[in-house]
Amino acid sequence: AQAHIGVTGLAVMGRNLARNFARHGYTVAVHNRTAARTRSLVEEFGDEGTFVPAKTAREFVDALQRPRRLMIMVQAGVATDAVLDEFALLLEPGDMIIDGGNAHFADTRRREAALQERGIHFVGAGISGGEEGALNGPSIMPGGSKESYAVLGPMFETISAHVDGEPCSTHIGSDGAGHFVKMVHNGIEYADMQLIAEAYDLLRQVAQYSPAEIAGIFRTWNKGRLNSYLIEITAEVLSHTDAGTGRPFADVIADAAGEKGTGRLTVQTALDLGSPVTAIAQATFARAASSQPALRAAYRPLPGGTPIPLTRSEAERFTAQVEQALYASKVIAYDQGFKMIQDAALAYRWDIDFGAVAGIWRGGCIIRAAFLDRIRTAHAADPHLVSLLAEPAFAQEITAAQVPWREVVATTARRGVPTPAFTAALSYYDTLRAERLPAALIQGQRDYFGAHTYQRTDKEGSFHTHWARPDRPETHI
Ligand code: NDP
Repeated sequence: AQAHIGVTGLAVMGRNLARNFARHGYTVAVHNRTAARTRSLVEEFGDEGTFVPAKTAREFVDALQRPRRLMIMVQAGVATDAVLDEFALLLEPGDMIIDGGNAHFADTRRREAALQERGIHFVGAGISGGEEGALNGPSIMPGGSKESYAVLGPMFETISAHVDGEPCSTHIGSDGAGHFVKMVHNGIEYADMQLIAEAYDLLRQVAQYSPAEIAGIFRTWNKGRLNSYLIEITAEVLSHTDAGTGRPFADVIADAAGEKGTGRLTVQTALDLGSPVTAIAQATFARAASSQPALRAAYRPLPGGTPIPLTRSEAERFTAQVEQALYASKVIAYDQGFKMIQDAALAYRWDIDFGAVAGIWRGGCIIRAAFLDRIRTAHAADPHLVSLLAEPAFAQEITAAQVPWREVVATTARRGVPTPAFTAALSYYDTLRAERLPAALIQGQRDYFGAHTYQRTDKEGSFHTHWARPDRPETHI
């Protein structure tokens, strides 16, 4: 036994992670259900480091140093269970299995509990950065036991992305915490992409800029507080011209957004936890609405808003307002994601360092952004920070942004440009800052039709009003 770690499942992600480990000097046992993938990895990339190819599960397990470290990179779901069934029986107490796939965190909790009974550490690790990140440095979000991170941490921190010399890997929390945080990362990614897309649509439809001009605007924004990977690639996509037609690429792509389910899962889970991730939800629904051709055809003939002709200087002023609205909405979307993680940490008893989560999202992953460094600082300064907006610097920025933010949202309504995520973010802001919410009336309605009771602002306890009786007396319950 000589391998420091083994990787089974050698499609794009597993293959690149195995190469990443090998390039960093680790001896890597490699295995795949279909042996051809194992052979091709060693043939094509064998000179990048030391690989130990294994044909059978037994051979693979025997190649690993003890305690064994075995990473599974197969399709999430039934494939993961199939591989676990095959390998777990060959392992011994103290061995570690890392699931680097996109597992549902509830599955990870179940698998962890089952393997713990046999003394095997099961580590659900969220891995972000796609194919390229897996090879050159992903953001790694491992859950599982602290003991397992003591062994695996140094390896993860070696192969992960680094920002300012700091690794983009940290122990997130026990059992499914890592996969949960990866899921929310993807939810935030949906919101961020939708917000950027809405900003583009506004600059196009209201300010009448061309895609190439908007690419230039995004490049300028990328030098400021909005600096991020997603803004950077947006400028690339917008400046691309379709080779066949000579038209802007943005105009030849069908406007129906796809999804692989991670945004949806974030929203489904948020509903269970009671976490109001409205920007993430709107971003997910916006993709769904874009992919409903019959519904869109039914609405298309209906009247829209009024065109607003803008002079060049008005367009420039509007662009600056959109930057403010985008930034403010983005702060809200990220804040919603972090709050959802806090809600889950409470529900599942995960001891999560929120500052550290922001820290490992600064590099390697899709939402990597300059302002995550500030989110990190804010959460590090106050581990119990309920919201970024409770931190003076963010509060000041949002205060400065709010007039233009409202102006942009009002313009979109008048002009008839859809901005579900901008609008949801602003409504969320106004909901939470309100002195009194109409939730009081909802409680009244619920008590009227369902005797669901209510609480009062002036007395302790629960109350019910006998609505059917003419004098409507109130009972203290
Ligand atoms: P795929 O999700 O396409 O999975 C293919 C791999 O799974 C192959 O190695 C395949 O083996 C194996 N497999 C499928 N079914 C079984 C089974 N029943 N028993 C054993 N092996 C099986 O590969 P990716 O590399 O794209 O992704 C791997 C994991 O990483 C997934 O969970 C994915 O969600 C996650 N992920 C992917 C990212 C990406 O950008 N692609 C980013 C981050 C995470 P065989 O060759 O024999 O068919």
